[in-house]
This record gives sequence, structure tokens and C-alpha cells, in this order.
Amino acid sequence: MCNCGVNFNDSFVRIIGDGRKTLFWEDHWTRDKRFRNKYPRIYRLEEVKDVSVGDRVSWVNSVPIVTWQWCRTPSGRCEDELNSMMRDISGAAHKDEAEDTKRRRLPVRVELDNRGIDLHTVRCPICDDDMESTDHALVLCKLAFEVWERVYRWWGFGNFSSTSVIDLFNGEYSDGNGSKKNPLWQAVEWACGYYIWKNRNKKVFHNKVSPSSTILNDI
Ligand SMILES: [Zn+2]
Repeated sequence: MCNCGVNFNDSFVRIIGDGRKTLFWEDHWTRDKRFRNKYPRIYRLEEVKDVSVGDRVSWVNSVPIVTWQWCRTPSGRCEDELNSMMRDISGAAHKDEAEDTKRRRLPVRVELDNRGIDLHTVRCPICDDDMESTDHALVLCKLAFEVWERVYRWWGFGNFSSTSVIDLFNGEYSDGNGSKKNPLWQAVEWACGYYIWKNRNKKVFHNKVSPSSTILNDI
């Protein structure tokens, strides 16, 4: 993570509105080239070549959560491209994050149900203990909570006690002057949310779950 090169400060280039009119692969919406040209290998694996940014990326308190549709799982060099692309995405600021968070949410089961999509259950696919809300999926689910606990321990923070995503990303951990969070910690937070969500999707689509120790290694 330390070598990931995420630079939040010079990454805020393009305002993308709600992302519905901006094409994820074709438009120039991060600070570099179009993803189609910059990441040709991973582009070949994309199932929906003309997908919009808004349909690929959900922003939770400026943390991008991406739902992919690959024709096969990226590996090798494709995976390298994917990781590099995720850093580009994490650097792309959102115009009105708070509004957007209210409007567009992670496609957890409770949200899909609210949109009228017929599901056989709205319970959490991982623990089956509660309804799958955004807060449950990313924070409250036993496995997610364990991952956060481990990450907090790794960073030498106190006990993890957040009960919602908002709570988490508005949290108390900041750098010395108390006003801005450490960018590296922001990157870790982002990666943590991303891998928790990725693991959730692995369960839903492939019926596999990794233990929190493995998820932490991925982070
Ligand atoms: Zn759960």
C-alpha cells in the first residue's frame, strides 16, 4: 500500500456530475488518458463497453465502490492494469458527493429491493444475520467488522467502533493538524471498503468467502 502512489491532492481534474452522461471507458474523466487507451488489456474483458461512470462507480463519502462486469476474472497483467485503474478512480473527485451518496447507493440487497428489483431475499449474503444495507455490508457485517478491527490494529488505532459508513469516513483519525486525514490512511480506508465489497460479490457470484486475514493481505 505504501508504494501505491495515490496522490489525492493533484488528482481532482474533472467534474463528472452524476456520472450518467460520462462514459467510463471512452470519456476522459480522470486526470490521465481515456481508460480504453490506457488499459487496453482490461478493456477487452469489459462486458459493457459503453457503460457510464455512474453505472460502474458508486461513491460513498468520496470513496469509490466499483461494480464490475467482466467476461472473465482479470488475472496477471490484467490485474495489474485493474489495480492501476483503481488508483486513477480513487483520485477522481466527485462534484457533489453528499448529494450523490443520497441519490446513488451501493447495489446492496435493501437498495435493490427499494428500486423494485425482485430478490428472493434481502438478507446479508455473507452472514444471513441481518438485512443487507450499505452500512451492514461495509461496516456492521461480522466479517467486514473483523477486517476493520484488523486494519485499525495494524495502524495502531484504538478499538474499531463505527456503526455506519458515514461514521467511518468522517471518523476521528486525522493527521497532526486535526483537519485533514492522512492521504495514505484514506487510501487504506478506500482499499478496505473496496476489498470488503469485492469479497461480498465473490460470495454472491461465486459462493466463496475469504477470511478477514486474507482480505487484510489483499489490502
Ligand atoms: Zn452480514
